[in-house]
Amino acid sequence: MRPPKVYSIDEHLLPPGKIDPKVYYIIEKLRINGFLSFLVGGSVRDLLLKQRPKDFDIATSAKPEEIKRIFKKSCILIGKRFRLAHIRFGRTVIEVSTFRAGDIKKEEIIIQDNIYGTPEKDVLRRDFTINGLFYDPEVQTVIDYVGGFIDIEKKILRTIGIAKLRFIQDPVRMIRLLKFKARFDFEIEKETLQALEECKDQIIKSSPARILEELLRMLESTRSKKFFELLDFYNFLQYLMPNLHNFLETNKDQIFSLLEKQDQELLKNPLSRSVLISSLIYPYLDYLLKKDFINKGIFIHLGIVNQIAKEAINTIFSPFFQFPKKLKVEIISILTNQYRFTPLNDKKIKILKIPRDPYFLYSLHFFKLRCLIDTNLSDIYHRWLNAYESKKTFKKQKKITQNEL
Ligand code: ATP
Ligand code: MG
Repeated sequence: MRPPKVYSIDEHLLPPGKIDPKVYYIIEKLRINGFLSFLVGGSVRDLLLKQRPKDFDIATSAKPEEIKRIFKKSCILIGKRFRLAHIRFGRTVIEVSTFRAGDIKKEEIIIQDNIYGTPEKDVLRRDFTINGLFYDPEVQTVIDYVGGFIDIEKKILRTIGIAKLRFIQDPVRMIRLLKFKARFDFEIEKETLQALEECKDQIIKSSPARILEELLRMLESTRSKKFFELLDFYNFLQYLMPNLHNFLETNKDQIFSLLEKQDQELLKNPLSRSVLISSLIYPYLDYLLKKDFINKGIFIHLGIVNQIAKEAINTIFSPFFQFPKKLKVEIISILTNQYRFTPLNDKKIKILKIPRDPYFLYSLHFFKLRCLIDTNLSDIYHRWLNAYESKKTFKKQKKITQNEL
């Protein structure tokens, strides 16, 4: 086994003040109890890139039961296949996992992934070199077994181990590769790129739930346009979302413009997942409504729009049969309300009636994205927004008066 390359603070310049104090607390406590422990993975990568990590993961030599014994009630053990510890501090949760080992040379999909290992083995089973770094907060060093430090400096995405094997073992890694490319705009190293091309059809072997989660997380990332462009460019959509793939062949602009606007909006305001997903469906729904009804001179009411919206979601997200029901209900409402704002028959509405709909505000959020593309809609948007605000104020005042009586 080769010793790792160790980088001191003068070399890595990782800002220790940007690490959550709870991380120091957990690592110190594990060490006092005689265990090894480091910060690992995405948070070390993000700190080296001067970005704020979404979460902090800790890897340790302590077994799950030992972690539980140390942190008692603030620790819950989760996961069946591989047990992880979640340490809670109020609302914050820090994930602590025991060093794992895996047979990284096997040419088959990984099912078993629950053997404990050493720090080195633990990083060797991770996906990309940039995600395989440890940080030791006590002496402020970055510990590198996989060449990830230099790859971050050179902006290179490279699998740990033989790329083709690593993608066959877990095809979701290919989607993660494109996610990191969209996020950091790094170059994909030659062998990794070649393996991506050779293994893309394997993607259908991976769990739809995991893929859906990566897709939804990317919609929230502020880099969704780039990510979907990459999925399209590298021909993954034909496997992941074949109906979206077919639609994009002739209708790229509308969807990518919506994604672009939502990426920009997310830098200023949060948007719910249902609003973000609507960007992938609305242009298709609009196309269906025009093709099947409007162009044929058939008038339809919102009840039918609602029905077709449901079908449009099922069509676009067809491979993901476990698409959450609540999310679907929200999206249907968002999409249907778009035709309340801009009716299909171009009728001018004089009195704006705000429906009893818990997702009406989300519908307005989506309408705002449409306005950012088509500024002609801005007037109508503001009229609906004002009507909504007035109704809210009126309801509040009515409640106060009722309470006073
Ligand atoms: P993000 O910032 O999106 O959370 P991340 O790299 O932290 O990115 P996570 O899903 O939080 O991604 O995973 C944490 C770490 O676990 C990764 O940095 C990587 O080391 C490892 N990992 C995640 N998914 C895989 C995978 N499919 N195969 C191997 N290692 C993985
Ligand atoms: Mg993470």
